[in-house]
Amino acid sequence: METAKELLMNDGHTIPQLGLGVWQVPEADAERVVLEAIGVGYRHIDSAQAYENEAGVGRAVRACPIPREELFVTSKVRNKLQGYDSTLRGFDESLNRMGLDYLDLFLIHWPYPAVDRYVETWKALIQIRESGRVRSIGVSNFQPEHLDRIIGETGITPAVNQVELHIQFQQRELRAYHQKLGIITQSWSPLGRGRALADPTVVGIAKAHGKTPAQVLLRWHLDSGLVTFPKSVHLERLRENFDLFDFQLSPDELQQLQGLDSPKGRFGPKPEELDVAF
Ligand code: NAD
Repeated sequence: METAKELLMNDGHTIPQLGLGVWQVPEADAERVVLEAIGVGYRHIDSAQAYENEAGVGRAVRACPIPREELFVTSKVRNKLQGYDSTLRGFDESLNRMGLDYLDLFLIHWPYPAVDRYVETWKALIQIRESGRVRSIGVSNFQPEHLDRIIGETGITPAVNQVELHIQFQQRELRAYHQKLGIITQSWSPLGRGRALADPTVVGIAKAHGKTPAQVLLRWHLDSGLVTFPKSVHLERLRENFDLFDFQLSPDELQQLQGLDSPKGRFGPKPEELDVAF
């Protein structure tokens, strides 16, 4: 039977295609949720400095019976720490909070062009990678102009770009650009934070397979070559969101789902406009 796949990144490392997102998981719950997810079979955890639950994630990674090498742990530089020295310091603090020797992936959370420090922040990530304390580096919420600038100024292409992407906002142009550059697309809010679950097309396809709408949506992400990490704190849903490997969407169903894309589907902030120092 098929199981969760790993995709190859442009730096030679691999990344599990399906993971767990922990945004809005309170610090007090993070250890339990991550341990339960690992028990279900998840091997990839997407956290961030701004989620303020890195310590709980780290406790779970250290306490679980799975060897560290088999887990994939991500964090992200928060906006208020952008800048060369502050990013280096912030990374050390993340590792200390998590109690880990290295991270698998470290991202710039938002380009935050209002302060225009994302190029020096990117240079700090390159330095951290060279020190061996992170395996892969990437970005999040970057638009083509931000990607062009960091690549143009450093010659180093991010391994991934993590962006808002769900059935109602499929980001086809950006994905094509990523493909040209060899960047893996990670989709955040893969369930549209719940918005797409009641769509009649999704519900119809789910019924035809005896699966749930969430499983149909997540299967679409996997079949579209994306890396994704739905969030839940409930064991039943953690199981449901990982139980995707006993069915396949037909070409016709994939086409129906592609038809749900909308230019108005974005619900998060526009990356070039977000200027919050979180
Ligand atoms: P999501 O699309 O994963 O939706 C999560 C919500 O959907 C949950 O709170 C729950 O209410 C519901 N849900 C989960 N499983 C369900 C199921 N099986 N059936 C019914 N409802 C279900 O949204 P998200 O949490 O915004 O995104 C996932 C992850 O993406 C985050 O945890 C985070 O790791 C990442 N993310 C990154 C950024 C960024 O700027 N880089 C922004 C937002 C999210």
